Amino acid sequence: MICYCSKVDTNIFKRIIPVIAFIIFLTPIITYPLLDLEQKKINEQLLAQELAEKQAEKIAQDRNYLLGKFDPSKNENFTVIPTEYSISGYKMYLRKETLDAFLKMAEAAEKEQIILKIASATRNFIYQKGIWNNKWTGIMLVDGKNLNTTVPNELQKFIKILEYSAAPGTSRHHWGTDIDINDATPPYFDSEKGEKEYAWLTKNAPLFGFCQPYDLKDNNRETGYNEEKWHWSYKPLAKDFTQEYKNIIKESDISGFDGDKYISNFDLINDYVLDINPDCL
Ligand SMILES: [Zn+2]
Repeated sequence: MICYCSKVDTNIFKRIIPVIAFIIFLTPIITYPLLDLEQKKINEQLLAQELAEKQAEKIAQDRNYLLGKFDPSKNENFTVIPTEYSISGYKMYLRKETLDAFLKMAEAAEKEQIILKIASATRNFIYQKGIWNNKWTGIMLVDGKNLNTTVPNELQKFIKILEYSAAPGTSRHHWGTDIDINDATPPYFDSEKGEKEYAWLTKNAPLFGFCQPYDLKDNNRETGYNEEKWHWSYKPLAKDFTQEYKNIIKESDISGFDGDKYISNFDLINDYVLDINPDCL
């Protein structure tokens, strides 16, 4: 009996080899595009993740800025106000554009014998917290009175401080766009000098980009702070910050000062930050 085993084996081997070779040849052609596609998908996911992280970081930075949680002396967009324009002589900061516009306005005013100086400029969260807490604890008097004795009810005290002072995190003074000019009290602007300066500002400040956010409360503005004839806002920047505040800041972002447990009794964002003279929007 003749055995064909080896013959058969050889034939199979001969047939298999080209098949294997063909598979080896095809494998990269088929798998490479698939791997390439998979890698592309991974790269796209990584890129999307990176973009989302960058966007979240940007929003966090913007949020901190709007809440005043930064140091203006270390921010490249800010500059020191020349001492001759600072009423207290203290070092104060403004956004460069705001200061440029103010200096042009002060120069124009001076030609008409009106002297404009800055009583208050950028106040960051820490600074505003100092003002607020001092009023809250009675260290700083309000209308010449210690609120702890005149307004012992804490909620009423919160309301009283809000008449003229912003809660930390809600002040336009955080942004480097807002200034108090010459004084920050109503009696000053009832004086002849104050009245004259206010009349000049009302007529001319808009020509230099400034608006008065806390104008007389009327049908346009029913809530928010009392009228502040001294407070002027550099609209070309402040308008955008107001819009960003509306988009980014939530009530839960506002805290970290005395009496902050009463925040939920108010709508600080809509009634105080956003309810301003429409001319500033
Ligand atoms: Zn002010």
